[in-house]
Amino acid sequence: MPAEDGPASDLAQRLRDRGWRLTAQRRVVAEVLAGEHVHLTADEVHTMAQRTLPEISLATVYNTLNELVGMGEALEIAPGDGPKRYDPNVATAHHHLHCVSCGALRDVNPEGAAALSLPPDERHGFEVLDVDIVFRGRCPHCREVAATAAGWPTA
Ligand SMILES: [Zn+2]
Ligand SMILES: [Zn+2]
Repeated sequence: MPAEDGPASDLAQRLRDRGWRLTAQRRVVAEVLAGEHVHLTADEVHTMAQRTLPEISLATVYNTLNELVGMGEALEIAPGDGPKRYDPNVATAHHHLHCVSCGALRDVNPEGAAALSLPPDERHGFEVLDVDIVFRGRCPHCREVAATAAGWPTA
């Protein structure tokens, strides 16, 4: 068994177990995604994947991410107007905190969220598959920038 390092191997291992053909390109995308719990955009995954595989194309990155989402191994999050982000944290139900200024996205586990459910008479015949709650606000960095701008007006 080859030595594996870091959290990236979990996703790669899961994919192997499912019989997904783990080409070098797919592997790099899976490793980049699983190694960073910061909800990368496809562009960011592409940039980081290129450090290992300089020839990997953005189209390949998109295709691979879409496959991972289709397989339920990654979540696609569209927190605001910005580009979609990809979340490898599918094992634990969680919600997100989104900075409307810089787009930072954090995982959060709000109290009571686990119990959140839609009563049958509110489902309008839908089969409910998932729930995604996004708390919007400003991250510490952006709050500081805003406070500085307000507090010290440029003369
Ligand atoms: Zn921010
Ligand atoms: Zn997340």
